[in-house]
Amino acid sequence: MAIEQKLQKFQCIKRSTRGTINIDPLQRGGILTDEAREALIEWGDGYSICDFCPGVLDMIKTPPIFDFIHKALPEFLGTDHARVTNGARESKFAIIHSMAKEGDWIVLDQSAHYTSFVAAQRTRLNIKAVPNSGSPDYRTTPEGYLDAIQEIIKETGKPPALALVTYPDGNYGNLPDVKKIAAVCHEHDVPLILNGAYSVGRMPVNAKYLGADFIVGSGHKSMASSGPIGVLGVSEEYSSKVFEKSPTHKVKEIEMLGCTARGATIMTMLASFPKVFERTKHWDSEVENARWFSSQLESLGLVQMGDKPHNHDLMFFEAPILFEISQTAKDGRYFLYKELKARKIHGIKAGLTKFFKLSTFGVPRDDLKVVVDAFDEIINS
Ligand SMILES: *Cc1c(COP(=O)(O)O)cnc(C)c1O
Repeated sequence: MAIEQKLQKFQCIKRSTRGTINIDPLQRGGILTDEAREALIEWGDGYSICDFCPGVLDMIKTPPIFDFIHKALPEFLGTDHARVTNGARESKFAIIHSMAKEGDWIVLDQSAHYTSFVAAQRTRLNIKAVPNSGSPDYRTTPEGYLDAIQEIIKETGKPPALALVTYPDGNYGNLPDVKKIAAVCHEHDVPLILNGAYSVGRMPVNAKYLGADFIVGSGHKSMASSGPIGVLGVSEEYSSKVFEKSPTHKVKEIEMLGCTARGATIMTMLASFPKVFERTKHWDSEVENARWFSSQLESLGLVQMGDKPHNHDLMFFEAPILFEISQTAKDGRYFLYKELKARKIHGIKAGLTKFFKLSTFGVPRDDLKVVVDAFDEIINS
């Protein structure tokens, strides 16, 4: 087929999931505010934010990117310095690449996101994963970090270059004891990265309070932003390393490749920020909703894995009952997806029945009730 014929398909592609109740963990925290939706159109042109650029993204005063990056964001993250990047993974890579070199070690939790592994691999590091406790809690402990660090010291004669903890992890929504993990790391002179892709922008999280030297977040995951965009917070101690400037292009930071989120992505983050800041203050009611939802699904025979009672909107369920039904259902393992779709509920991965994850973040209680009733019908009729 000629390319011209194919091009027609790309015109104004409509999303098929608009208007559904969305419980996809990946998407809940990235839904735009009305303000961000407006900003997306206004600033959609390429390089639109660069009208009055003094040479580097974070110094742009109009629009107020400087105020966001250098005033609001460090305070929000609880760090001395902050930048925006093109995603949580880019934030992690910038830290790892500037702090460590080929052959160094990094300790991270077994529950870490694949992007943490890949960011370390791109820097050619050796990785030691701290095992979690396995089913049903999948807990990550400070003792695990201690063991991993001591093993590395024993094997190599020196501590790892870095440690990373995922808060919460992207499968079970577990919140490990970061304060204690940070204490273990610092006792051994190991700087700690806090991966807050699922926390920064949803719940209160402060790097200083928790004892982390670095924090990363994801705009499109948890800050009501149209991505890709991430945030990066760094303590004073390591800022000159991570934000080292180019010897040839004096204002450009090497790890940022000069400039990062140079367009509509950062404007959606700015536009949403007041509401994102506000919503983190109502985290208690999100946890309450998550616990209510979990108890409702458990009363239908599903089992919520991970921390219990749960402390986050991201939840992992095992559903032997649904697996059993799928064995004889017309659509097989796709039956659950189709049954939910028929009820305008979206977000559980097509083909999964035995276990799956979902999120209740920002879903009104009435909509959660619709989801609970849907599961009840699917299981009991
Ligand atoms: C989604 C996710 C990421 C990746 O975020 P990006 O901003 O897309 O790079 C990293 N870590 C965790 C735990 C995640 O859930």
